[in-house]
Amino acid sequence: MKERIHKDVVIIGAGMAGLTAALYCGRMNLDTLVLENAIIGGQIANATDIENFPGLASVSGKDLISALQRQTESFGAVIDEFDEIERVTLKTSPKIVETQEKIYEADAVIIASGMNRRKIPLAEGRKFETRGVHYCELCDGHAYAGKIVAVMGGGNAAVDAANFLTKYAEKIYLIHRSELRADEVSQKRLFANKKITVMLQTEIKALRGDKRLEEIEIFDKVSGVTKVIAVDGIFVNIGVEPNTKLFSDELTLSASGRIVAGEDCRTEIAGVFAAGDVREKEIRQLTTAASDGTTAALLAEKYLSKLHG
Ligand code: NAP
Repeated sequence: MKERIHKDVVIIGAGMAGLTAALYCGRMNLDTLVLENAIIGGQIANATDIENFPGLASVSGKDLISALQRQTESFGAVIDEFDEIERVTLKTSPKIVETQEKIYEADAVIIASGMNRRKIPLAEGRKFETRGVHYCELCDGHAYAGKIVAVMGGGNAAVDAANFLTKYAEKIYLIHRSELRADEVSQKRLFANKKITVMLQTEIKALRGDKRLEEIEIFDKVSGVTKVIAVDGIFVNIGVEPNTKLFSDELTLSASGRIVAGEDCRTEIAGVFAAGDVREKEIRQLTTAASDGTTAALLAEKYLSKLHG
């Protein structure tokens, strides 16, 4: 039988929004648990150069998140990154968050589950997942020391991934179906690195290999030529999708799959808040994620004060 544990607040997701919420909740002496089953830091975990976080001229995602994690934990919030959530029940009191190992009874829940990487739109993608097809450079990049890898995509995440992988791989192909939309600073670094070959207007048509990925078939849309190149791995960076599958039975989702909640982060269920990129809103930045985390935590505390009379 799973152990049942009571918490004042359970925060789902340890990106900028979730960690900021945890920092505030911890500081208000709330018994706070953060559950994260991907990587602490979320989308910015491996961003190389963040230059638009107020007060910091330039900081890596890793350094920013490590500092925030230390600050959060110093105020007593606990982060568990190994216990995956299986289901949630939000309309009851207390709310239930059931993981593989435990059942948490929470008086308030802050959902800050962010976004997941979009999967490669090829049937073979699944077959090679973790055997050559990857969605996390920070987690898996080290396995490609001295090897040849491809990065698929043309946004900031793809360009940052290619730049990051130069730490390990001997050769990197950045393969993108159209033009790059990453910012200028990251592109400059990309084109300056001799390990990287940039292939634009190029589609990835097939992945091949026996037990693991060995080669990819690519199509140059300008010349009309199809080629096969040998790679040991591919890191897919073709955008993100909201991580809301767990909540779709209980909360209203927008057309883009995000949780509908106002600027106050309150959802339609009392005591349940949505913060950061998972909330339907127009501007999604690190600063607005931190802002959401702050708002959700302060209003969760207000909700708990009322609840406990
Ligand atoms: P993104 O900016 O939405 O870019 C997605 C990329 O994937 C585009 O190049 C798009 O190509 C391509 N793509 C989409 N669907 C595809 C498909 N089916 N097949 C092939 N290519 C496909 O996503 P992102 O780069 O993951 O970044 C997500 C968010 O995080 C963005 O807001 C980004 O700015 C932010 N971010 C920022 C930083 C930073 O500031 N350093 C770092 C990482 C992420 P098309 O252009 O052809 O549509």
